[in-house]
Amino acid sequence: ESEGKVAMFDRGFLIAGGVYEVSAVINGKLVDYAAHMERLGRSLSELRMGWPCTRAELDTMHHELIRRNDLKEGIIYMQVTRGAADRAFNFPKGETKPTLIAFTQVMNLVNNPNAVTGVKVITTPDLRWSRRDIKTVMLLAPVLGKQAAYEQGAQEGWMVENGHVTEGTSSNAYIVKDGKVITRHLSNEILAGCTRRALMRLAKEEGVEIVERPFTPEEAYAADEAFLTSASQFVMPIVEIDGKRIGGGQPGPVVRKLRELYLKEAGA
Ligand code: PMP
Repeated sequence: ESEGKVAMFDRGFLIAGGVYEVSAVINGKLVDYAAHMERLGRSLSELRMGWPCTRAELDTMHHELIRRNDLKEGIIYMQVTRGAADRAFNFPKGETKPTLIAFTQVMNLVNNPNAVTGVKVITTPDLRWSRRDIKTVMLLAPVLGKQAAYEQGAQEGWMVENGHVTEGTSSNAYIVKDGKVITRHLSNEILAGCTRRALMRLAKEEGVEIVERPFTPEEAYAADEAFLTSASQFVMPIVEIDGKRIGGGQPGPVVRKLRELYLKEAGA
């Protein structure tokens, strides 16, 4: 950490010209890794950025990070930027060398105490740009939303646009009503979560119906259950939204089942 250096003119630093991925590690093994690399490729190509190295080299890097840090449980963060060049909005003339950085963080993911109690969520305006399907490091709007949540004693902010929840500041958003899971459909308005994708498949196999459509905060207040998904939180129950208790303030049966299924497949 003390030896890694990034140039002052790196476009990631100057203009948030970078994309990233966060993959979970459980029992020393990567979770949903292929999906994360697929999304990285898509983020890079949508921004017309180059790969920093081959996919095989990235795989090796991830495995080396686990080995050298003796990582049993936590996450690997990796980021690619367009590289360093004289500051300008347009792409640098000629090829710049993409910058690649990565690190690990030890985290208690499987036995996260929040999963037992459930978390609190507030709603907050969605201030982001219109290409939220690209996982960029341009995170100021989510930062403001998350901070607003923390300042109100909640763990996540559900961002609202045109009267409907788009997603969490760092997670996808779900409610459960009459046994059906409701979550917003994929589009440029939200990030296609890798955990969301895995969960959709597991739910289908288990016969849990998922309806993909936008929902309002009012619908969420009246839901039987609510939850969020992300690579580092997996499937996380929500027990309060804007101060209103959901499902009697306890994680409900559908979310508990889905978390269990996800953990089982992830090798927990
Ligand atoms: N939406 C947003 C805005 C996010 O930042 C994240 C976390 N990367 C997610 C959804 C969940 O995606 P994933 O399951 O791939 O972590």
